[in-house]
Amino acid sequence: MRTVTGCDSNSKMIRPLITNIQRYSLQDGPGIRTTIFFKGCPLRCPWCHNPETQLVLPEVNYNAEICSGCAKCAEHCPTGATYIEGEGADSLLRFDRTKCIGCGECVSACLTGARELIGQSLTIDEIVKEAVADRLFFINSAGGVTISGGDPLYFPHFTLELAKRLINEDVHLALETAAFCSWTYLEQLVEYIDLFLIDIKTMDAAKYKEHIKGDLGVILKNLENLLEKKASVRVRLPIVPDFNDSMNDFEAYVNYFGQLRGKIASVDILPFHSYGEKKYQFLGRSEEYQFRNVPNMSYKPIKVLVDMLTKVGFIPGVSITVGGLIGVITK
Ligand code: SF4
Ligand code: SF4
Repeated sequence: MRTVTGCDSNSKMIRPLITNIQRYSLQDGPGIRTTIFFKGCPLRCPWCHNPETQLVLPEVNYNAEICSGCAKCAEHCPTGATYIEGEGADSLLRFDRTKCIGCGECVSACLTGARELIGQSLTIDEIVKEAVADRLFFINSAGGVTISGGDPLYFPHFTLELAKRLINEDVHLALETAAFCSWTYLEQLVEYIDLFLIDIKTMDAAKYKEHIKGDLGVILKNLENLLEKKASVRVRLPIVPDFNDSMNDFEAYVNYFGQLRGKIASVDILPFHSYGEKKYQFLGRSEEYQFRNVPNMSYKPIKVLVDMLTKVGFIPGVSITVGGLIGVITK
């Protein structure tokens, strides 16, 4: 049975699948970093640009643009999820995802790279080895490793064990989360995480519940608890057209975070972009994406928020950033 929060409390040491261990990452904390992306998230942001990290089970990416139509995938599929419909010149390659078990047979059979299995099962040893391979870059740029997702706190026990192992490797360790979880889990992590990156998606609790499926009260309480424990926290605000970019939204941010000035390291403003749109298509989930043809956000509304935060004492380039955190050192 699920608890009221996003933590998968039944997932005692359940090992999440990993969608990517991305080297040379510049937007997931200070300096040059390696980011570990867990597959699985309790929330559903309608603008999510990493939809492959939402579901816990493996998924197959299919890129029809580079498919040669050889049908090798259908020959190897054990469940009939990928199959040929019709005969001869009229035959069509079909993919019934409801029958797909994520075995990856079609991916191995595909010679063009049109198919890719999303979600690798890796041990903690394997993750740590890959994550610290760029240690030299971390040292030279004040970077490190970021545990991200999905949401790592959906797998709190695994995240804690991974954090303990990574901190023994003597790297700067950041954790990116929406903080929609039990405080018990976050509290245990304070000792091991150098920097928390906490996403706040709106200050409107009803909107949070309706559109994102989370509880803003739990999230803000966790944020305040972290600050009380003197954890280093950067707050991240995704700004999304017609969702949280009105003056009312901005005023709510400024009122709340203005009171936390001096306690939070920074407010990082993340303007909406639509780079994830293709990913939905490749996952066969295009209908889920509500921001089709919505252009990337311009700087004009973002500047309004920057100015408002500046008026209450935040400093652009120091305690306010826009976009990534390239070159910003916080610890
Ligand atoms: S992953 Fe396995 S079940 Fe799914 S389409 Fe490919 S071969 Fe078939
Ligand atoms: S094996 Fe690859 S290239 Fe051949 S039909 Fe399947 S997806 Fe297309």
